[in-house]
Amino acid sequence: MAAPAAKPHLVFFPFPSQGHITPAFQLARLFHHCHGFDVTFVHTEHNRRRLLRARGPDALAGAPGFRFVAVPDGLPPSDEDAARDVAALLLSLPTMVPHFKELVLSELPAASCRRLLVSDVDPILRAAEEIGLPCVTFWTTSASSFMAMQQIRHLVAKGLVPLKDAEQLRNGYLDSTVIDWAPGLPKGMRLRDFPTFIRTTDPDDAVLALTLRLIECYRTVPSAVVFHTFEELESQVINAMSDILPPIYAIGPLPLLLRETGGGDDAASTSAGSSLSKENRACLDWLDGKRPNSVVFASFGSLVKLTGEQLAELAWGLASSGYEFLWVIRSDQKAAGGTAVLPPEFLEETEGRGCVTSWCPQEAVLRHGAVGAFLTHCGWNSMLESVCAGVPMLCWPFAADQQTNSRMACTEWRVGVELSEDPGREEVEAAIRQVMGGGRGEEMRRSAAEWKDKAALAARPGGSSWVNLERVANEVLAPLM
Ligand code: UDP
Repeated sequence: MAAPAAKPHLVFFPFPSQGHITPAFQLARLFHHCHGFDVTFVHTEHNRRRLLRARGPDALAGAPGFRFVAVPDGLPPSDEDAARDVAALLLSLPTMVPHFKELVLSELPAASCRRLLVSDVDPILRAAEEIGLPCVTFWTTSASSFMAMQQIRHLVAKGLVPLKDAEQLRNGYLDSTVIDWAPGLPKGMRLRDFPTFIRTTDPDDAVLALTLRLIECYRTVPSAVVFHTFEELESQVINAMSDILPPIYAIGPLPLLLRETGGGDDAASTSAGSSLSKENRACLDWLDGKRPNSVVFASFGSLVKLTGEQLAELAWGLASSGYEFLWVIRSDQKAAGGTAVLPPEFLEETEGRGCVTSWCPQEAVLRHGAVGAFLTHCGWNSMLESVCAGVPMLCWPFAADQQTNSRMACTEWRVGVELSEDPGREEVEAAIRQVMGGGRGEEMRRSAAEWKDKAALAARPGGSSWVNLERVANEVLAPLM
C-alpha cells in the first residue's frame, strides 16, 4: 500500500507591514482551518520583536501545523522608523531572498512535502520561481488599485508619467487629467486617483521602477492571484482583470469568512492575532457609554504620519464639529520636529468629549454601534472593516493605493466624502457635519448599510467569496494534495 501523502505546506511571506500581515494571517488561518494545510508564516526580525513586545510569547506560539518563523530584514535593529518606512522596507526586501531560499530548501524540501508560497513580495515570488516552488500572489488591497497599478506602464507609454515638471503637482493637472480608457475602472478617474507612485518627475525614480517590476511580476510569475475583496464590490474591475492575469479569486472580507467558517476563535481575534502593537481595549468601554452613531472615529492605519499642521487642523476640525470622537494617534506619530503634541487649548475644549489612544482594536471599534463615521486614510483593511460594519467614511488618502480606494468609496460605492490633500479645520468640520448629519449623510448611511449586507452575504455559505475559497482549494491547492 502506498504511504499516505504528506500534508501540503503553505508558506506565507507577506510584505512586512501591518496592513499586509493582518490579511495574510487571516487567509493563512482560513486555509489551515478549512483545508487542513500546514502553514509556515514568515515575519521579519523587526516585526518578530514588535509582536513579542506587544503580546508576549503567545504571539508567536503557533499551533499544531501552524508555525511562525522570522528572517533577517537587513534593517538596523534599533531603527524602528525604518521598519515603518515603506521606501526603506521596499529596498530591504532583496536582502531577505537568501534567507527565504535557505528556509525553503533546508526545512521544506520538495522531497518531503508538497509546498506552495503565498506572497505579495515580488523578489520573494521571483526567488520561488528560481527554486521551483509554485506560488500564488495574495494582493492585500483593492482590485481597483491593482488595476490602477497595472495602468502605470500605459501611463508611461503615453508620456503622462513621469510628470513634466513639479508644477503639474500643484496646478490642478492631476485633477483635470481624466483617464477614461482603463479597463474596469470608472470613466471619470483622474490622474489624482491613481497610486501616488506616478507623482514623480524623475524618469529614473526608484519607486516607480520598483512598481513597474512588481506589476510585471504579478502578471507573469504566480499561477493564480487572490484578491482581498468580494465580487459584488468590484465586479467590473474583476471581470476586466481576467483578461490580463493568471486565474483570479476574490476572497473577502476575510474577518467575516473567518467567523462564518469558525476559523476565528472569537470575533475580536481575527485581527488581534497579528497586531504588531498593544491594543488599548478601554476605548471600547468608553464607546459603551455613548449614544448610537454619535462618535466620529479617526485613525490613519499603521504607517501614515501627519505633519504638526495637519494634526492641529484635524484637532480643531474635530473640536468645532461638536461631535464626540475617538482618535488613534500612534506613539511613533511624531509631528515634524517633535512629538505629536495636541494643542493644550484643544484638550481643554474637548475634555470629556474625546478619547485619544495610541492603538485600538479597530475592527471591534468600527462594529461598535456608537461609531457614526470613520475618518480614514483609506488603507484597504480599514476600508473593508468599515464596509463590513456599515460605517460611512471621510476619506483622506495620503499615499500608494489609498487614492484609488478613496475614489471608489466616494463616487462608486457612495459611502464616503472626499477630503482635499491638505484639509484645513473648516473643511474637516464641514465634512464631519455632512457625514454625521441628514441629507447626504443619510444617503451614505443607506449605501453603507446595503454594502454591509452584501459583504455578509458574500462570506456566507454559497456566497461569492465562500465559493471562491472552495475554488482556490479545488483548482490551485488540490493539485498539491
Ligand atoms: N489598526 C488597528 N488599530 C489601530 C489602527 C489600525 O488594529 O489603532 C489596524 C486596522 O484595523 C487595519 C490595519 O491596522 O487592519 C491597518 O491596515 P490598513 O490597510 O488600513 O492601512 P495601512 O496600515 O496598511 O496603511
